[in-house]
Amino acid sequence: MSSRKKLIAGNWKMNKTSADAVALVQEIVAEVGRVTETEIVVCPPFTALECVGKKLEGSTVKLGAQNMHPEASGAYTGEISAGMLRSIFATHVILGHSERRTYFHETDQFINQKVLVALKNQLKPILCVGETLAERESGSTLKVVQTQVEACLEGVSKELATSVVIAYEPVWAIGTGKVATTAQAQEVHAFIRSLLIKLFGDAVAQKIRILYGGSMKPANAPELLAQKDIDGGLIGGAALETRSFVDLVNAAVAAG
Ligand code: PEP
Repeated sequence: MSSRKKLIAGNWKMNKTSADAVALVQEIVAEVGRVTETEIVVCPPFTALECVGKKLEGSTVKLGAQNMHPEASGAYTGEISAGMLRSIFATHVILGHSERRTYFHETDQFINQKVLVALKNQLKPILCVGETLAERESGSTLKVVQTQVEACLEGVSKELATSVVIAYEPVWAIGTGKVATTAQAQEVHAFIRSLLIKLFGDAVAQKIRILYGGSMKPANAPELLAQKDIDGGLIGGAALETRSFVDLVNAAVAAG
């Protein structure tokens, strides 16, 4: 039992038309829309944010985006700003997902700019970090994660740090069906906690949620969520279907 409230966030990635997204969120709200013991966030694609947000009204489920640009406005074709997200009542934003780092060449420095702007705009960043398979196999997991955490959180004040959520997502486990063992996951989570203690002090670090992401499913969630430093999950594939997402929320509630 941890003092940190568990958080289950669904990353819908580039899936669901607006109509499909509304259908999914209505089912989610019907099943877990009054849950208060665990925080729930759904992150639909940009086109479905507003209509999903409307369906979340009056429920405890929160709205998150999958990305944003650090500038407030201007000539950034295809991008969305923090202010735009706030205007439709988004509360969270996923930043630095490995798919953004890999396919769109996002650097830690760019992600850091976004983290700072998100916090300035009262958006809670869900900051993703994690090593590739080659990095794990060469024994550099902790070094890679340390570099990402420190660089992406550069300049974050102690006061705002508790609004940050970290998602440890080993890249080799995302969408592959390969899950980190609970020992592998807890080792990295505890390491991230130790980095947060160095950056922000113990009291603040103990309040920051560290989620696990990478093929988390109802079957493997209870063991992962029972680990001391695993405070929830960032869920891809299993968030696209009501039953599995609801079962993950229930697993988080049971884990306390
Ligand atoms: C993700 O993309 O953040 C993720 C964890 O995906 P999956 O659950 O499908 O591995």
